[in-house]
Amino acid sequence: CEDKTPAKGHETLFIFPFDRKDVEAPVAFDELHESLENMPTHTILFLKHVKKIYVTADDNEIMILSKRTAASHSNSISEIVLNNMNTHRDRYLLFSKPVDHPVKGLSVEIAYELTKKGNVAKSWDTDLVVFFPTEKKTNLGFIIQGPYRTTPARDNIPFKDDFNRLLIETTAHLMGDSLLWLRDNMYLDENIYDLLPIEEFDFPRGSMFRPFYEKLITALSDDDLILTSALDTKGSPVYCCSKKLAIARSAELRQLLDSNLLLELTDNQTRYWLSGAITEQTKPRFYKYLKDNLDIEEWRPEDLISKLNKPFLTNREDDWIVKLYKLILTQRQWFTNLNSQKAKPKWDIESKIPFFNKPIVRLQNGSQVKPFKSYTCQEPTAYLSKSNQADFPSVKSSILDDPEAKSFFELLGFTEPSDTEFLIEYILPKYENELMAQADLSYQIDTARQIIHAWEISNNEKKLLIKKKLENLLWLPAHSYSDENKYILSGHNVCYVPNDKISLFLAGSGDHYYICSELQDMKAALIEMGVKDCIHVACREEDDDGNVIILDERGSHLRGLDGFDPIARVDGLDYAIQATISDHNIDRAKFIWNEILIPNRHLISGKIEHSTKQSFKNPLNIEVKSKIGEAIELGPWLPNNQGHFYNISELSLAELPEGFSRDRRLAEVLGMEIPEDDPFDIFAREIGLPAEILRELKNNPDLVPDILSGIKKIIDKANKKPSKNQLDMNEHTDPEFPMFSIPDPERRERVVSNNIHEAPDKIFEKKERSVRTSGRSIDKETYLKNFYTNKNDEMICQLCKKIMPFRKRNGEYYFEAVEMLTKEMISKESESLYVALCPTCSAKYNEYIKQDRNKIHTMVKHIQCSEIEEIEIETDCPETLKFNPPHYLDVRTILTELIDQED
Ligand SMILES: [Zn+2]
Repeated sequence: CEDKTPAKGHETLFIFPFDRKDVEAPVAFDELHESLENMPTHTILFLKHVKKIYVTADDNEIMILSKRTAASHSNSISEIVLNNMNTHRDRYLLFSKPVDHPVKGLSVEIAYELTKKGNVAKSWDTDLVVFFPTEKKTNLGFIIQGPYRTTPARDNIPFKDDFNRLLIETTAHLMGDSLLWLRDNMYLDENIYDLLPIEEFDFPRGSMFRPFYEKLITALSDDDLILTSALDTKGSPVYCCSKKLAIARSAELRQLLDSNLLLELTDNQTRYWLSGAITEQTKPRFYKYLKDNLDIEEWRPEDLISKLNKPFLTNREDDWIVKLYKLILTQRQWFTNLNSQKAKPKWDIESKIPFFNKPIVRLQNGSQVKPFKSYTCQEPTAYLSKSNQADFPSVKSSILDDPEAKSFFELLGFTEPSDTEFLIEYILPKYENELMAQADLSYQIDTARQIIHAWEISNNEKKLLIKKKLENLLWLPAHSYSDENKYILSGHNVCYVPNDKISLFLAGSGDHYYICSELQDMKAALIEMGVKDCIHVACREEDDDGNVIILDERGSHLRGLDGFDPIARVDGLDYAIQATISDHNIDRAKFIWNEILIPNRHLISGKIEHSTKQSFKNPLNIEVKSKIGEAIELGPWLPNNQGHFYNISELSLAELPEGFSRDRRLAEVLGMEIPEDDPFDIFAREIGLPAEILRELKNNPDLVPDILSGIKKIIDKANKKPSKNQLDMNEHTDPEFPMFSIPDPERRERVVSNNIHEAPDKIFEKKERSVRTSGRSIDKETYLKNFYTNKNDEMICQLCKKIMPFRKRNGEYYFEAVEMLTKEMISKESESLYVALCPTCSAKYNEYIKQDRNKIHTMVKHIQCSEIEEIEIETDCPETLKFNPPHYLDVRTILTELIDQED
């Protein structure tokens, strides 16, 4: 080892003897060579007087470290540039702080490494520096230096040492101060927080560098050191302490609330949002630190919603409200929950749909309302109407101009109102208080026109709904008949479309109304709605039998006979009668007589029938008068032909003035004297035919036979017709009786009469009873089946004319071919002499006819005399035996041929 002498004053000589026993000298030399070569640049950083270090070996320069001050910001803050042989350059911001200690001149330092762009960055090697780097890990992202006491070998720093503690505390303070400076000099960005002692794991309680961790919490809590999303007026970032900061989970939320709104919503507790550059994704460690260690509140959209209230929302601009809707739109889950709620409503709703109970909907008039009328969320509180009616509940139109806001409401289920909805939601509620009655006439008329218009364009279902809603509403601007200048709101049910007759009838009545002239053009719709265009007669309808059912309860049945309804009344009749009594207006009296009383004479008085049975068996009858009957007896309102007025009972029909219809039936109802007429009139009344026809007949006697036969036919037909009741009892009408036509009756007659003489005689075998055998050769069954099967293939009994009651196993109708006469009366065999009867009729015929000689004879005579193929016979009751015409002709021919008529 060469003997070297340090140069005078400024040099330090290190002598490395390389004499360790465990490492040989060449190895030790190489190791030292390598470590000197790789000496970190910051080795020189904290050296106060050394500006340059040369390392040479074997006359080669292996390293030259140099240091210069690039900028000096203050006595204690400077920017240092370090060079290593001009190949490597590092920049540091160096902060220094004197140590409060009896020994003067001691200080601690912090160095932040700067990138080439001049931003603070994390140093890769931050082991503690005691003038020279040690191997003590600090877990900080910046370098700290201090005159720590070390063990003699510099391999450890006893941290329980008070002096060392003082240095640590002082350096931690310096960190706080340096952060303020960094902030004020535009160095404090979101990346710096990564350098800071934020992981408690790295700074456990009692550990050497714990004071840094604790100091940082104090600094961030008290000083405005956290980057917010706000910018100041110069466009520079704003910093804030943790106490006035909140974290927004989404950018939408951050954009929605500026500092002022945040303060307003939090009672001045929170002023800023954390910068959007610091998120769970970009800065997970610091983000977690802010939430967990600094207790900064994190807001989700529902936290914002929960803080909203009506005054706050009302003060916001439209575009703010739109942004709020957009924020809500980002929460798809809320809409999923909303749809479930609509499908299956539950009470617990606000946690699932946070905006449900918040007045977030801005209406056209600027007010804020909740979105739904009830927890089922089925009925929105407003409509998506472009209507400019400020008082119709529609969402503000300028808000709906934004497509996303519109889709927000559509997702909630808001719709455009139908005209009916508009009417029911908006127009009709106006009538529920006094305001409408006090409103301007023109407004009342406009509104009424809207109602009528909505009616006009509604379908039947909606009309029913409107009708129901209007039922008890006074909405129709009208005049009372007592004051044509005064407008009053009336119900449509009690209002008239005026005409001369109605006006005459009701003139002066304060209880009756007619629509105002401003609505005349809509009278067709009004009449359809129930406004009357003729004097209203109230009565119940009669049933199919012409009676009015009044009471139909078990054990008590009451009806008005022949259309009479005891509660019948004519609107305004009392008034009109009274008026006529006092003003003697003949035209009104005539109108009452001709157009009110005559058409409604059945409603004036009549019989009421009471019975305990629904069938009205053993009824009790009472004669009563209706309101109409009472009204017309109020006094002398009916004129005679002299123009004097009398009570009805004082006049006869004949005395009425000209133009008053001479209605006898009305006169009868009223008990008026009816003058005698000529016999034609009386007879005509009796039989209910017009007297003119009878007079006509008298003048044209030659018409009489035709008319009589015509009448007879009609009467026959009417009698044959089954009554309605019978029809109801039998499911089917009577079956059709087969009636064949006879193409050539004379020929048939001739053939039959010849054949009968050639027909075999009846042969009887001697047995205990006489049993005829010859008849079997004649196919009477086929003969009868042929004649008594109709075109529906039904076989009909000749006596009861009903379908044979059953079919045989082979599918053919069972019937009995019964011989018409007894063997004593006729000896020839012929299929014509049988009748087709059902078993019951067969038994009846045998019992009642064939056992009775007189009846048989009568029948034969009947047949011989009558060409009508239906003959009267008497079994247990009067009946007829009917024949198909060809069969009847055959029977008649044979009976005429074989039986003497005098017999
Ligand atoms: Zn029968």
